[in-house]
Amino acid sequence: MSDPAEVIRDNLARIRERIAEAAQRAGREPSEITLVGVSKYVDAAMTRLLLDAGCADLGESRPQQLWQKAEDAAFADAEPRWHMIGHLQRNKVARTLPLVTLTHGVDSERLLTAIGNAASPEQPARVLLEVNTSGDAEKHGFAADQVRDLASRLEAFANSRVCGLMTMAAREGGETVARQNFADLRDLRDELQPQLPGLAELSMGMSGDYEAAIAEGATIVRIGSVLWEGIAGE
Ligand SMILES: *Cc1c(COP(=O)(O)O)cnc(C)c1O
Repeated sequence: MSDPAEVIRDNLARIRERIAEAAQRAGREPSEITLVGVSKYVDAAMTRLLLDAGCADLGESRPQQLWQKAEDAAFADAEPRWHMIGHLQRNKVARTLPLVTLTHGVDSERLLTAIGNAASPEQPARVLLEVNTSGDAEKHGFAADQVRDLASRLEAFANSRVCGLMTMAAREGGETVARQNFADLRDLRDELQPQLPGLAELSMGMSGDYEAAIAEGATIVRIGSVLWEGIAGE
């Protein structure tokens, strides 16, 4: 059996290469794109191997799992940047915020208010607004018009810094539809940026579609499955 640390290093190197190639094809710098390694599929020890391989941004989609990992002995002597990428319930905000560098899935004004209440002016919470670009009914996120409306009232929400937008592409329709979803997110950011200069990040693209997302301007890709290929249990 091969050494998991080696398998993870190889997977990471291959993905970084594909990210760099996709960036170059789009006339972009690879350094403009942050890879968030999604660790929700594996335990804390395995996640630590990904950090040691050089992936300092780690994403979890369930708050309890994020808490457990962040507090696990495997991370006692390390400080990865944790990203909350999934749906966050308001009653889990207070415990989650101090652990994370960025909350990707802010999908309601009530959640944004709860985040503001748990953060402080000295340490505002960095967040992304989740946009449902696909229209899939089972997906979270604001409609584009709701984001436009919210953007004009953001000063009313204290203690949070909206750094950008996040989306998940449609389940159906393949690459063509995914690319359109990603382009729609970029266009929305470009439209709102004059009003909100801090709106820079586009968190979009997962294992199956990150190259398309980079072609459309992703600044953050959230990649799980392909990082853990060849690892037992995955
Ligand atoms: C699980 C997850 C990912 C990673 O998906 P893969 O297809 O495994 O790369 C990205 N974003 C979110 C919000 C997720 O829940």
